[in-house]
Amino acid sequence: MSHLSGRHFLQIPGPTNVPDRILRAMAQPTIDHRGPKFAKLTHEIMDGMKKIFKTSGTVVIYPSSGTGAWEAALVNTLSPGDKVLMFETGHFATLWRNMAVKLGLEIDFVPGDWRRGVDPSVVEEKLSEDQKHLIKAVAIVHNETSTGVTSRVCEVRQLIDRVRHPALLIVDTISSLASIDYRHDEWGVDVTVSCSQKGLMLPPGLGFNAISDKALKIKKTAHFPGSYWDWEGMINDNKLGFFPYTPATNLLYGLRESLYMLFEEGLERVFARHYRFGEATRRAVMAWGLELLCANPKEYSHSLTAVLMPEGYNADELRELILKRFNMSLGTGLGKLKGKIFRIGHLGDFNELMLAGTLSGIEMGLALARVPFSKGGVTEALDYLSNQ
Ligand SMILES: *Cc1c(COP(=O)(O)O)cnc(C)c1O
Repeated sequence: MSHLSGRHFLQIPGPTNVPDRILRAMAQPTIDHRGPKFAKLTHEIMDGMKKIFKTSGTVVIYPSSGTGAWEAALVNTLSPGDKVLMFETGHFATLWRNMAVKLGLEIDFVPGDWRRGVDPSVVEEKLSEDQKHLIKAVAIVHNETSTGVTSRVCEVRQLIDRVRHPALLIVDTISSLASIDYRHDEWGVDVTVSCSQKGLMLPPGLGFNAISDKALKIKKTAHFPGSYWDWEGMINDNKLGFFPYTPATNLLYGLRESLYMLFEEGLERVFARHYRFGEATRRAVMAWGLELLCANPKEYSHSLTAVLMPEGYNADELRELILKRFNMSLGTGLGKLKGKIFRIGHLGDFNELMLAGTLSGIEMGLALARVPFSKGGVTEALDYLSNQ
């Protein structure tokens, strides 16, 4: 491959662009993870992550991908054979379901068309039918990264409460945490799952669980065999600032810097910035005459946008052309959406001019690929952004 000059545009919805400040923060000598300096780092990070999750409860951090944090949430709160309600909102929800099945859980997987979020009324219906309380947890994806659809977690909780069902609420916030408003305590979530490489602007390698007191209590009666994911050892050692096994020290330096950056900007402003980029992107897509995959405007994702290709045109050919010509990576269609959609990541360390560049690359790419579309999407987005 020949050299492509200029900066690469990494516009996939994770891993996201890692800011220089974070890269520099990680480029430090690795210290003794059983020493006093490290304990201070742990306490600082734990306090910061509680503010990110909006919880006064417990947070644990694994050296893992998001998939590891998914597994941790399930094996600490459930037992083999337990029934769990899950929703087919897209590729990630399906992968999580597959994991749960492999673990020996019994999954009621509510089918979906990959264009909509969790239907809260179905949660209500399923739980009110479950008089014997056999359903032990409802596990949902907040922001479905494969489709650009955000589910209404708060409404799901309200309906669980309305039917007075004791099921735990477990939520994947991997591509929404620190980009889209999320409130672990206020929304009554029992376990929130997340990881480092999306809204937190870090490289991959850290997985998180935020845990309610109810989930901690239930853990005492859950009996999955296992050890690496066990919350107990983590929580006990974390109290003193340490970990039961070697943590990802340099990623934690990066996380501390990420937290500084997010709090300097202010979380509410971070959310507003993502909203603006989501809205500008959607206006561009509509002006191009292309269709958004997300079918419900109440569920538009502000961290990424999935765009349907016109019939007969392959999204991956367009992505390949844009990569070669403009040095920009866009997200591919996952699972059954392969070739049918492309995804624009607009989360993390990102600003107006990066969005303008991203949308310009797409508009030029559509023309070069001879995809039928109307020009003017970029102008539409810029008009919107310059009026905010
Ligand atoms: C990226 C992502 C995952 C998977 O995370 P890994 O770090 O690849 O294991 C799971 N769920 C959602 C919603 C994601 O966006």
